[in-house]
Amino acid sequence: MNVQTKPNLFHFTRAPRPLIDRADGIYMWDATGKRYIDGSSGAVNVNIGHGNRTVIDAMKRQMDRVSFAYTIHFENQPALDLARDLAARLPGLDRIYFVSGGSEAVEACLKLARQWAIATGQPNRWKIIGRMPSYHGITIGSLGVTGDAVLTPAFEQMGHAMPLIPAPVVHRDRDNLSLEQRGTRYADMLEEKILAEGPESVLAFIMEPIGGAATAALVPPDSYFSRIREICDKYGILLIHDEVMTGIGRTGAFLGGDHWGCKPDIVSLSKGLSSGYAPLGALAASERIVGPVLAMGGFLHGHTYGANPVACAAGGAVLAETDRLGLIDNAAAMGEVLKAELEGLSARFPFVADIRGKGLLTGAELYADPVAKVPLPRELNANVRLIDLAFERGLIVYSRRVKGGPESDNFMVAPPLIVTREQIGEIMGLLGDTLEALAAELDLPVNH
Ligand code: PMP
Repeated sequence: MNVQTKPNLFHFTRAPRPLIDRADGIYMWDATGKRYIDGSSGAVNVNIGHGNRTVIDAMKRQMDRVSFAYTIHFENQPALDLARDLAARLPGLDRIYFVSGGSEAVEACLKLARQWAIATGQPNRWKIIGRMPSYHGITIGSLGVTGDAVLTPAFEQMGHAMPLIPAPVVHRDRDNLSLEQRGTRYADMLEEKILAEGPESVLAFIMEPIGGAATAALVPPDSYFSRIREICDKYGILLIHDEVMTGIGRTGAFLGGDHWGCKPDIVSLSKGLSSGYAPLGALAASERIVGPVLAMGGFLHGHTYGANPVACAAGGAVLAETDRLGLIDNAAAMGEVLKAELEGLSARFPFVADIRGKGLLTGAELYADPVAKVPLPRELNANVRLIDLAFERGLIVYSRRVKGGPESDNFMVAPPLIVTREQIGEIMGLLGDTLEALAAELDLPVNH
């Protein structure tokens, strides 16, 4: 269990990290025996918690039968079953395609949309409008629709930087409009962008129904969703919902968009789909989209590890456990408790504001001045300090500096959906200690 001083393995961060030893439920232990609460469910993916025996046993059984069968040669039962079980939960989106992760799922959505345009005699439609800020993945195609001023510029010539409209960061606006009016105003920006780009060239609009990595659980006003669908229909543009983070119960509904009765044409899924037990992602689309593509000769896509039997067996068991343990209802109920607790922390630490979220995807912003919406100075590195101070105390939180659009530091609290009321108390105790330390270090105000 020794950590090499200069390991061969490298990651996107150079910061040294402890070696993980084991994990159970919402807890993880490193090789020194230190315990952490997984307050971010890994990358907001370990929805059913660590060490679930039912999932592990289902995967073992599948490995004993067959671990791999190439999709060109064979169907496999776990993939057929998981597609059926997903379709049953996704009315109108009953054609399913499996990949190995979230970026791959988004890539597959973009390619399916493009092939649909060709198959339906609209070959000039190719632009996919995204939002700034947003996160849709790290591959060249998914970065092309991602709004991030740091991650994307180096690769723009290699892929294609797609048009972006502002994400509906309604809590940052200081106008006299109501939230619903702001929602409509942000949605109208899609129509303006379509008209500026030329409606005949626009293929789709992609959005996270509830913001994730870039906007920390940003919940748009109700008016946003209906207006976006209306605009897409008006111009014959496909609506892609990226539900990689919000899907499979995370927000207290099966899909994030279900809170508003959204009817996207294509949806990407990953993360909670296998809850971290195996790399797995999926797209779900309506027959209206998939039918013409298959009729024209098929989806020009496929990864070696697509529809992997062991990963799909994990996904099937995760869905079954989600139902058996009532995790979607628990996410909704515990999410309310968590948000109320975060509001309490905001009263104690006034630099923490704009608490939001749905279910167990909750977030907040850090401000120098929460009323005037003045961000903390960039050089304070508040997001990194927050993560580190929490980590020292045995709590894992997700925090980022938003890069693109109005700058700010934000953070998310998104524990596994199995979390109990007592465990939320434990998380909040550690988060309170962390914010106390952050306030002392950065000289931020505290109400005692
Ligand atoms: N889309 C969204 C909405 C995400 O949150 C993420 C991951 N944070 C991705 C796509 C990319 O998923 P992955 O990291 O599995 O490639």
